[in-house]
Amino acid sequence: MGYFRPAIDAMSGYVPGEQPKSGVKVIKLNTNENPYPPSPKAMAALHHVEPDALRRYPDPFAWQFCQAVSDELGVPADWVIVGNGSDDVLNVLVRACAEGQERRVVYPMPTYVLYRTLSAMQPAEVVEVPYPDNFQLPIADLVAANGAITFIASPNSPSGHTVPLDDLRKLAGSVSGIVAIDEAYVDFAESSALSLVREFENVIVLRTLSKGYSLAGLRLGFGVANPQLLSGLFKVKDSYNIDAIAIAVGTAAIRDRDYKNTCAEKVKGSRAQLTADLRKLGFKVLDSHTNFVLATPPQGNAEFIYLALKDRGILVRYFKETGLEDKLRISVGTDEENQALIEALGSIL
Ligand code: PMP
Repeated sequence: MGYFRPAIDAMSGYVPGEQPKSGVKVIKLNTNENPYPPSPKAMAALHHVEPDALRRYPDPFAWQFCQAVSDELGVPADWVIVGNGSDDVLNVLVRACAEGQERRVVYPMPTYVLYRTLSAMQPAEVVEVPYPDNFQLPIADLVAANGAITFIASPNSPSGHTVPLDDLRKLAGSVSGIVAIDEAYVDFAESSALSLVREFENVIVLRTLSKGYSLAGLRLGFGVANPQLLSGLFKVKDSYNIDAIAIAVGTAAIRDRDYKNTCAEKVKGSRAQLTADLRKLGFKVLDSHTNFVLATPPQGNAEFIYLALKDRGILVRYFKETGLEDKLRISVGTDEENQALIEALGSIL
């Protein structure tokens, strides 16, 4: 007998963007981290963590954080499930809801690759519906695929586009399974689909503190849905999936909305400049509602450029995936970092 279940033998693991070894200096534009530090209030909360908070097990439901989410987003605190990053909530969703050929996982492509990985692990059959060139949501095909879960990242990665609220509403009203709207990048967008959680019992909206709140290293994300939908997810999640430090720091961070918004505005300004500069170099760049852009180099030689940038100490993301082979996903850095990228690209081209 082999060590692993056949599903695990058959799948490929998720490959995260490269994290440089400590002490290695690079310009890191490959995993959509925020270029600005976390809120000073979050850092103060870190320094004030009491020894007792570490001696004891943490609150399994991170109630203090749920209360802060409730105050900030205007949803009841018991409509919140907290995860060790939003990846944890995605994992819990797939474990709780998907299985085999009957309880499929459905999503439009290209999108966040982890949906595929989690489904392969379960295992659950996947239906990947291609986005058309204009990135209009293929609602009829998604509905026909009849998923136990339909994942929609909005804003989407790697395209950076936002799905209109009315399309999400149409989808949620037409499927019997769960619609999971992944809003990891919502802090850089102009709109959110959060209101749909009150309109539809089958909608969950996922958020993270990794992007807008500059806390990717903390690992804190959450889902918002009605208690009926959350009840099954609570059975599946690890009891102590959020540690005491994450609860304290995350609570202070999410309450500091002004700081988050100030950083997001800076990122949006830099995004506009980066987009314009890339276009000047001949790149095709999609309009983005996130903290990254998807750019097609003038000669389509994306992998070559990715490697040439890496040689110069600049990391961007290259996906060897159908439809993405000729593109680079570039996180928005500080203006200095973006300028260094543009200069490097100028010399490579
Ligand atoms: N959703 C999307 C679309 C993402 O790009 C990411 C970040 N890789 C996540 C969710 C997960 O974020 P985290 O686990 O850091 O909260």
